[in-house]
Amino acid sequence: MTLTDEAATGPCPLVAGNWKMNGLKAALGEALAVDKALAAEPEPVGADVMICPPATLVMVMAELVGKGAVKVGAQDCHTGESGAHTGDLSPEMLADAGAAAVIVGHSERRADHGETDRLVREKAAAAHRAGLQAIICVGETIGQRQADLTLEVVARQIAGSLPNGVTPQNTIIAYEPVWAIGTGLTPLAADVADVHAMIRDRLNERFGAAGSAMRILYGGSVKAANAAELMAVANVDGALVGGASLKAQDFLGIIEVYRAAGAA
Ligand code: PEP
Repeated sequence: MTLTDEAATGPCPLVAGNWKMNGLKAALGEALAVDKALAAEPEPVGADVMICPPATLVMVMAELVGKGAVKVGAQDCHTGESGAHTGDLSPEMLADAGAAAVIVGHSERRADHGETDRLVREKAAAAHRAGLQAIICVGETIGQRQADLTLEVVARQIAGSLPNGVTPQNTIIAYEPVWAIGTGLTPLAADVADVHAMIRDRLNERFGAAGSAMRILYGGSVKAANAAELMAVANVDGALVGGASLKAQDFLGIIEVYRAAGAA
C-alpha cells in the first residue's frame, strides 16, 4: 500500500500488547496461542498485531512467532548504539534480537525514570536509526485533565517527543491517559475523539500528507468489552493494551473487533 492509498483509506489498525514487567518463559505460550489463532483465520483479521514482552523474552518470542502474524516489539531503548551504559539496551540490540518496534515514552517510564519529551524524542530517533518503529506514548495525568489541560499537555508532548524524520512507517503514536492505565477507567468516546483529532491536526501540520497515514493508538484499560466502542472513534487506529494483552483469550477478544468490523 502506498502512502497515497493509506491517506485515502486510513492506516491499517494495529493492536499492540504491552506486557510491561510481566512474563516468564512459560508466558510464551500466550503469544503462541495468539499466533496460532491468527494463522487459523481464513481471512486477514483487518489489523496488524504486535506483542511487546519484557526484554528477556524478545529474542525467543521473535523466533517463536515473529515470522507470522504477530510482530514483536520491545518496551524501551537507550539512545546510543553501544557503549558504557550498564543495564541498558540499544535499539540496534533489540533489532538484532528480532524486535520490529520499541515503545518509547510510556507514562510509567516518564514517571518512574523521569523521562522527558527530549529524551523520548532522542529514543525515537535512535529507534529509527536502528530500523525499528517507534511507538511514542503521550497522555495527561488526572490532575491535568481535571485542570482542563489535556489538549495543551498532549500537544506539548507531541511537539516535543517526535523527532524529525517521522514517517507513517517508522512511527506510531499512542495516546494513553495516565489515569486510564491499569485502572479500569476510560475516557468518554467524545473525549478520545477530541484528543485524537488534535493529534491528527498536529501531525498534518508538521508532516503534511504523511500525518494522515500515521497510526494513532488509544491505550488505557482497553478490553474486549469496550474495544468496539473505543476503536470506532474517529482517528483511533488501534490500541495499545496492557493488562488485557497478557492472556491470549483476552487479547484475541480485542483483535476480534477488527475481524468483525471487516466481516460486517
Ligand atoms: C499500557 O500500559 O500501555 C496500558 C494501556 O495498560 P492497560 O491496558 O492495562 O491500562
